Amino acid sequence: MSKVVILGAGLSGLIKLAHLRKGNEVVLLEKDNYGGLLRTEKINGFQFDRTGHLIHSLNKPFKDFLNAMNIEITEKKRNASIYFEDKYIPYPFQLNISYLRGELKHDIIDEVLKLDEEENTTGLDFINWVEKKFGKTLSHIFFIPYNRKLLKTDLKNISPSWFLRYMPVPNKMEIIKSLKKGNVEIGYNQVFYYPQAGNIQIIVDKMYELFKKHINLNTNIKSIDTEKKQVICDDVVYDYDRLISTIPFEEFLHLANEEHNYNIDHINVYDLNVGVKKGNFPYHWTYYPEEKYPFYRIGCFSNISENVSPKGKMSFYIETSYKDKLPDKDDILKSVESLGIFRADDIEVIDEEYLEYAYPIYNNDIKQLRAHQRSFEQKGITFFGRSGSHTYSSMADLF
Ligand SMILES: Cc1cc2nc3c(=O)[nH]c(=O)nc-3n(C[C@H](O)[C@H](O)[C@H](O)COP(=O)(O)OP(=O)(O)OC[C@H]3O[C@@H](n4cnc5c(N)ncnc54)[C@H](O)[C@@H]3O)c2cc1C
Repeated sequence: MSKVVILGAGLSGLIKLAHLRKGNEVVLLEKDNYGGLLRTEKINGFQFDRTGHLIHSLNKPFKDFLNAMNIEITEKKRNASIYFEDKYIPYPFQLNISYLRGELKHDIIDEVLKLDEEENTTGLDFINWVEKKFGKTLSHIFFIPYNRKLLKTDLKNISPSWFLRYMPVPNKMEIIKSLKKGNVEIGYNQVFYYPQAGNIQIIVDKMYELFKKHINLNTNIKSIDTEKKQVICDDVVYDYDRLISTIPFEEFLHLANEEHNYNIDHINVYDLNVGVKKGNFPYHWTYYPEEKYPFYRIGCFSNISENVSPKGKMSFYIETSYKDKLPDKDDILKSVESLGIFRADDIEVIDEEYLEYAYPIYNNDIKQLRAHQRSFEQKGITFFGRSGSHTYSSMADLF
C-alpha cells in the first residue's frame, strides 16, 4: 500500500483522491476551510460562483461523473458578445465583422485577402501570430488590447499556445463571408452546461462529503522535503511515496525551497459579484477589449440559470485582472453604470472575491518550466490542475 499525499482540495485534488483512495493510504491537505474555485457564496437569495463557471465541454468521463454524483445539468445556447465602439458585437468578433463600421470592415477585408494561409507561424510571439492569422486591424482592435488587458503582460513575451484551443481561428473565406452573413456560429462553446439546481459548488460538495475522512482542512504546510519525501505541517509530518500537487506551482516551489532560474508568471482576478433589483443585459457574458473599461468581462449569473437569484432580480460577475495593485471597486461600478447595465441605486448585494493564480501565463520560459516539472517525476512528485501544473485548463480537462 503506497502512501499518497495530495496538496489542495479543489476539483483537481478531489478527483485524484477519488481515483487513488482505494488501494493506497491517501491524505489530502488543504489550507482553507473549504477548497477551490468551485465555491458559491449565498447572500440574501443570490448565489455567486467565483466568476462564471460553465461546463463548456462535456466529455464522457465528466458526464459519467455527473451521473454518478446525481447532478443534473441543463444545456444553454451561448449568447455572448464583445462591446466595441459603443456597440455589442456578437461573439466571435472575427466572424461578425458585418457589425463594424465601414472603414474597419474595408481594412479588415483588404488585409485578410492578403494573408498567406500556408505561412509557417510556429514559434511566433502572440502579436506576430495574430497579425499573421487575422491581419493588423482585427488584431489591433480586438485580440491585442483584450489580451493585454487580461494578462497585463508584454504580449511579445507570450506564446499564442496559451489560448489556441479556446479561440476559433477561421480561414480567410470564413472571415470574408461573415461580411455578409454575420453572426456565424463557431467556437469551442456554442452551447454550455450548468447544474440545473443552480450553483457550481454542488460539483464538489458531494465529494467533500464522501471522502471527508481523507481530507484535512485548515492545514498549514510549512515546507516540503523532496529528498526525505515529507510534507511538514504545523503539528504533523506526512511521509509519502507519491506526492500530487494541485496547489499553485509557484507556491509548491517556495514550500519545497526549490530555486529556479526562469520566469514564472500568472495573473490574479478580482471577481466583483453584484445582485441587483433590475438590470439591462441580455447576454450570458460580454468581453470588453477597450482600455477605458477596467474589467475584461462581465457575465450574468441570472441569465445563465434561473435558480441563482431571487425571482425577477439579476446578478452579475465583473472580472478585472490584477498583478500587484488591487482594482478599485467604485471605479468598476461607475464604469458598469455608465454602460447602462444596472444602476447603483438598484444594487442589493455585493460580494468581492480575490482569485489568486487565476490564469497561468505562457511566457517565453514555458519550456524550462515544463522541464523543471518533469524533473520531479523521479522523486515521486507530479503536478495536476490549472495552477498546480501551470496549464490553462478547464474542469473537463481533469476527467
Ligand atoms: C476566473 C476563472 C474562471 C474559470 N472559468 C471556468 C469555466 O467557466 N469552466 C471551466 O471548466 N473551468 C473554469 N475555470 C477553471 C476551473 O476553475 C478549474 O479548472 C477547476 O476548478 C480546478 O481547479 P484546481 O482544483 O486545479 O485549483 P483550485 O480550485 O484553485 O484548487 C487549489 C487548492 O489548493 C489550495 N492551496 C493553495 N495553496 C495551498 C497551500 N500552500 N497548502 C494547502 N492548500 C493550498 C487552495 O486553497 C485550493 O483549494 C476557471 C478558472 C478561473 C480562475
